[in-house]
Amino acid sequence: MKKILLAVLLLFALVMPLAAQEDEVTAIEPRAPRYTCLKCGSLDTSTSLIDTEIGGYNEACIHGKQGSDHVTTYLRTYEVTCHNCGHVFEARTTSSSRTCYGY
Ligand SMILES: [Zn+2]
Ligand SMILES: [Zn+2]
Repeated sequence: MKKILLAVLLLFALVMPLAAQEDEVTAIEPRAPRYTCLKCGSLDTSTSLIDTEIGGYNEACIHGKQGSDHVTTYLRTYEVTCHNCGHVFEARTTSSSRTCYGY
């Protein structure tokens, strides 16, 4: 019985820092990432955001409370232009933020 409790505590210890990290990352609107050109490998590229798709779902609270958390997901599509060879391509990133509705 004691072993199970320990395992649960350990799980929380592992989950909590991850959750905090996730919030920190998404608290600020991410800057457009810099991509390497898929064609010539140059780092001399510019990135512009062309679309953000927002979704979300509810999940059991991970903060040790009753109730649920709401997770908002962002799927961003960027257009990347290479200044070296002129190649243009699309790149996508996903991120999420979590709001606690636990009580
Ligand atoms: Zn290129
Ligand atoms: Zn929560």
